[in-house]
Order: sequence, then C-alpha cells, then structure tokens
Amino acid sequence: MSGSIQVVGIGPGDLAHLTPAARHTLEDVDVIVGYITYLRLIADIAPDTPRESGGMRQEVKRVKQAVELAQNGQRVAVISSGDAGVYGMAGLVYEVLKEQAINDIEVTVVPGITALSSAAALLGAPLMTDFAVISLSDQLTPRQDVLRRVELATAADLVLCLYNPKGKQRTKPFTLTCEIIAQHRAPSTPVGIVRAASRSGQRVSLTTLAALPDTDIDMLTIVIVGNSHTMAHNDKMITPRGYGEKYQLGETHDTRTDN
Ligand code: SAH
Repeated sequence: MSGSIQVVGIGPGDLAHLTPAARHTLEDVDVIVGYITYLRLIADIAPDTPRESGGMRQEVKRVKQAVELAQNGQRVAVISSGDAGVYGMAGLVYEVLKEQAINDIEVTVVPGITALSSAAALLGAPLMTDFAVISLSDQLTPRQDVLRRVELATAADLVLCLYNPKGKQRTKPFTLTCEIIAQHRAPSTPVGIVRAASRSGQRVSLTTLAALPDTDIDMLTIVIVGNSHTMAHNDKMITPRGYGEKYQLGETHDTRTDN
C-alpha cells in the first residue's frame, strides 16, 4: 500500500514563524526528509521521528528517496525553508512522480511563511504595490533569461525581490543585475537587504541602489529594490500604495468620512 508525501514549508527559521498546520504535519508523519540545515531548524519538533538528510545540491536524490519511502507505505514529510511552493520542493515532488508515472501517492503541500514576507516585515512595508520575484541563480535557469526578467520587471517599475542573489563563485548575475537596474532607477532608490531572517545572525539593512554593488551579500540574503515611489523613512522602507494621492494622510481626522 502506498503512503503519502506532505511537502511542508517550515518558514524562514524561528519556530515562532512555523504555522500550526506545518507543526501538526511534522508531528504526525513517520519520517521527515530534508536538507540538514533545515532539519536542524526543526530539531525540537517530533525529535523521535526518523530524519533523512542529504547535501545542498541533492534535491533530486532526496525527493526520489521520499518517493521510495512513500511507496513502502510511509507517511513522509519533505521540508523546504520558507514556503515549499516558492523555489521549494513542491514542484520537484510533482515532477518526479509524473516522470516515474506514479499516481497512487497522495501529495499535499503545506504552505509556509516565505523569506520574502519575513524580509518585507523586517524592512517595513516595501511590498504594498505590485512586485516581481526573481531568483538570480543561473544554475537551473539560463542567465540570459534571468537578466531579461530583471530588465522587464525593472522597466515596468515593479518593486524587485531578488532571491539567491549571489553565491561564493556565482557573482556575475548580481553584478549585471545591478547594472540593468541602474539604467532605469535613480541612484537614491531605497534597497533593503535582509540576511538570515528570523535565524541567528539576522541582519537587516537599508541602503541605496548606488551602494548596492558594494554591499555584503551572500546566498542567505534576500534583496528588495524599491520602485520609483519607494521611500526610506526612520530606517524603514515604505512603498506607498497610493492612499496619499486620494486622502489627506497628514490630517488628524479623515475629512472624507467626516463629510
Ligand atoms: N522556499 C523559500 C526560498 C528558498 S530559495 C521561501 O519560500 O522563501 C533560497 C533563497 O531564499 C536564499 O538564497 C535567499 O535568497 C532566500 N532565503 C531563504 N531563507 C531566508 C532567510 N531566512 N533570510 C533571508 N533570505 C532567505
């Protein structure tokens, strides 16, 4: 009899940001499969439940192992940081099952708080209007496609959320991305940088587009570049949604409702 696979987003790090549904799922399954760093983040949850880990670039191997365990009747949780459906494991689980023509394993995706949401909260309110999320990793997506997405999203004045901005060896896409954005946006455009959101070593900083190329950035960082309306105020990054155009935000009473 086949078991099941639940693909669980564990949130950005701190267990306070793990949803009750995700916690319940992890407490309920027979085995938890995940990258060792993420298994450490949930070490206190269901400590007696067996874990299966693997290295950083072994996602395919991990998913195949999860499928095998499920075929043997186990209820398996496959974990991702943040949300499992945002640059996470959910897609790969479905793809492997499709390729292996396995249709009798029930798959459920349990959502989590993404790095994007945690970073935005720490920075203030940078995502109040339309934004684009782009991963700068050119490992699975050709570099020219990544850069074209950056170009079009920048030209459309979308706030930009850059995942996987820079690796130890992989620095070129980030450098080129900074150059592309600089062609469209003012050097003073606010940029928020969040490293290790809700994990030990969390770092939050606000800088400008002009300073971005020289900022200390690694793979555990997410970068949010403001649009032409984004402002920095009291160390917070705020993208107005447009209320200020319609209402008198500086008045103590809402004159519209008074009328
Ligand atoms: N599924 C995750 C994304 C995983 S991709 C999500 O929903 O957020 C890995 C990238 O996510 C990292 O390179 C980094 O850009 C970002 N990231 C993940 N966790 C983070 C955290 N705690 N703080 C800042 N960025 C994070």
